[in-house]
Amino acid sequence: MRKPLIGLATGLNKEETYLQVNNGYMRALENAGALPVVLPLTSDQEMLEAMIEQMDGILVTGGGDIDPAAYGELTSNACGPVETLRDAMEIPLIILALQKDKPILGICRGFQSMNVALGGTLYQDLPTDRPQSKLTHRQKQPERFPAHTVDVEEYSLLAEIAGTPFLHVNSLHHQGVKELAPLLRRCAVAPDGLIESFEYPEHPFFLGVQWHPERMWQNDNNSMKIFKAFVEACRIRP
Ligand code: MN
Repeated sequence: MRKPLIGLATGLNKEETYLQVNNGYMRALENAGALPVVLPLTSDQEMLEAMIEQMDGILVTGGGDIDPAAYGELTSNACGPVETLRDAMEIPLIILALQKDKPILGICRGFQSMNVALGGTLYQDLPTDRPQSKLTHRQKQPERFPAHTVDVEEYSLLAEIAGTPFLHVNSLHHQGVKELAPLLRRCAVAPDGLIESFEYPEHPFFLGVQWHPERMWQNDNNSMKIFKAFVEACRIRP
């Protein structure tokens, strides 16, 4: 049987000489029955359209911060290093995936990119912008261990995938969703009120998660369910 071809949007190393991708994404997708491939880092419109046309699905991976200019804010002192080349590729790619009904999964930075692409905004640094939160979103324990829970919204895509009212998730982010883009629907919320997952309800599969299931799937069935559901959605060509 033909394996769904899934293109990974990823970033460069600090010296800007290598594309880098956490092997966890590749291995989780392979285990879920897909053929994952790394996409070139480009904002050329013809290339982006070819990606949407020729891939069965797109995974927008984690990474550095999004340039606050992309959501109309000045860069605060607490904002981390930004990846503007990725912004220039991923924002139009996400919009194309939305327009063409192409399954897309966003993880961490990818989740934040999806919100920004659709007109949402971000907290540039959670400890600075939400000092009232008692939850740490940047865990010190190994990445495969959960750091906090999220409540899953009833009848959401994530509820359908996980089949449980809450999940134990890891947490490796210092930014987060401030204003959710108008057309997105909340799928999961952390105990401090931070949105950790959303979907685009009218789309075949447009899901973002703030946590990193690619670093938990070997020990956590709910993480694997996300990759499996995504790959199954990619089997159906629009
Ligand atoms: Mn978190």
